[in-house]
Amino acid sequence: MDKSTVYNSLWGVVAGDMLGLKNSTIPKKDMIPVTDIEDSHFGPAGTWSDDSSMTLCLAESLTTRRGYDVNHVAERFLKWYEQGYMTPIGTAFDIGNTTRKAMENLKKGISPYQSGLNGEFDNGNGSLMRMIALVFLTDSMPLQNALVISNEVSSITHAHKRTLLACAFYLMLGRYLLKGETKMLAYKKACEEFMKTYHNNHEISHFERILDGSISQLVEDQISSSGYSIHSLEAAIWSFLNGRNCEEIMLAAVNLGEDSDSVGAITGGLAGLYYRDVPRHWIDRTIKKPLVDKVIDNFMNFIAH
Ligand SMILES: [Mg+2]
Repeated sequence: MDKSTVYNSLWGVVAGDMLGLKNSTIPKKDMIPVTDIEDSHFGPAGTWSDDSSMTLCLAESLTTRRGYDVNHVAERFLKWYEQGYMTPIGTAFDIGNTTRKAMENLKKGISPYQSGLNGEFDNGNGSLMRMIALVFLTDSMPLQNALVISNEVSSITHAHKRTLLACAFYLMLGRYLLKGETKMLAYKKACEEFMKTYHNNHEISHFERILDGSISQLVEDQISSSGYSIHSLEAAIWSFLNGRNCEEIMLAAVNLGEDSDSVGAITGGLAGLYYRDVPRHWIDRTIKKPLVDKVIDNFMNFIAH
C-alpha cells in the first residue's frame, strides 16, 4: 500500500472537518459557500473537531497495539471525552448526543460491547465519521472479518443496525478504491457486495438511493447532508463521485451545509484515498499540526511498511 494513500486519506478527514466547521453552525439559507478554511464559531481557522479527534484516536490505538483491540480503542475515546486527548484546544467539543451517552456508559465501566446505543434516533454519523483507518487495517482481511471490526468500532457508540450498515458500505467502498478500481467501478462493486451481504437485512431499504447505482446523477437539492448517517453517507458519495480532485470534492461536500464538518470529514477520507491531493495549504493551517502529523505518520508507517 502506498504511504501517500494513507497520508492523504487521514489528512482528508482532518481537512474536511476544518473546512466544514464554519458552515456547520449556519442555517443553509444564510450560508456563504466557503472556498478555504475559515474561522468558525468553534475557533480560529485550523480548528478541528470530534470527527478528527476520534479518527486520530482510532488510528493511534491501532498503531500502539499493532492491530485492533476494542477495549483500547474505547479507552482512547474515553480519554478524548474526559481529558481532551487528541484535540486542538485541550478539551473535547462538538460531541453528538449518542456519543455522549455512550461515553457516560464507558465511564460507568460498561463494556465497549454494550456501551453503544441502538435506538432509532441513534443513527447519527458519529461512528461513520471515524471509520477510515479501518479501510487500511482490514485491506487484506476477508470481508466478514473486516465487518466484525467495523461493527464493533461503530457499536462502541452507535450500535443501531442501520448505522452499522452505513459504516459497512463506507468500508466496502474504501476497500475497492484501495484495490485500485476507478471510483465508479468501486461504487458499483460496493453496491453489489453490500446487496449480496445484506439482502436479508430489512435495514437495506434505507440504502435505496445509494444502491440504485446512480446517486451521482441526483441534483444538489436532492442531497441532504444532515447528521443522519444515511444522509451523510449519501452526501459523501455524491460529492466524491461528482468531483475531479480533493479540493473540488471537499468544497462541494462542506458547501452542502447542515452537518458540514462531519460530511467534510467522511468525504475527505474517500477523496484523499483516491486522489491523494489534499491541498497542502489546508494541511498547513492545522492547529497543533505536529500532533496530527505524528499520529498520521506513525499509522502510515505501521500500515504501509
Ligand atoms: Mg465535528
